[in-house]
Amino acid sequence: MEKTDKRKFSGGNGAPATGPAACCDGLIETAVVTMAPDKTARLICPRCESSMRIDCEEFQGADGQVQIRHACACGHAYLLFLERRREPRKPARMFGVWARASGGPKRSMIVRDISRRGIRFESEIRVPLSPDEPIIVAFYLNNGQRVPVRKKLRVRGADGAMVRGEFIPMGPMATETERACDRAIAHFLLSDEGNEGR
Ligand SMILES: [Zn+2]
Repeated sequence: MEKTDKRKFSGGNGAPATGPAACCDGLIETAVVTMAPDKTARLICPRCESSMRIDCEEFQGADGQVQIRHACACGHAYLLFLERRREPRKPARMFGVWARASGGPKRSMIVRDISRRGIRFESEIRVPLSPDEPIIVAFYLNNGQRVPVRKKLRVRGADGAMVRGEFIPMGPMATETERACDRAIAHFLLSDEGNEGR
């Protein structure tokens, strides 16, 4: 049986856990866990393999990747990187342009919804796109500041002129501009602004 324990871990971003300070051999093991729709995550201790479910609700709105230090009942401490699979999507009506990453004409578009992971947009004209094709999108977040966002997307599906895509890194290293875009999107998703497009 799995048990839920709220005490054996503590805050994100490397905050100290309440359990033993570190693993006895000094190595830091890491594990990636996924938050389930019920806002819990299942952990498996790399040493004793016992599993446990933790409550992650407090990290739901956190910016960026959440790092949790977890100490198992067996005394083993390790780092977890929490992934959030179910991202809230926000309906939108934001004007912009898109183009194939390989080049070609820019097309107008309207972003219809947005999450941390990607967008769904309506292209001015229907353009055949292959699954996984990389494209570049640029639009303004329609909150008070109208922050410009430029992101690379991988096409996940297209239905007529409606295209769904997932954000992917622009290049091997994220630039400060790219990180600023991600923060602006995260802020936009949490704010009540920009809902006039519903
Ligand atoms: Zn353990």
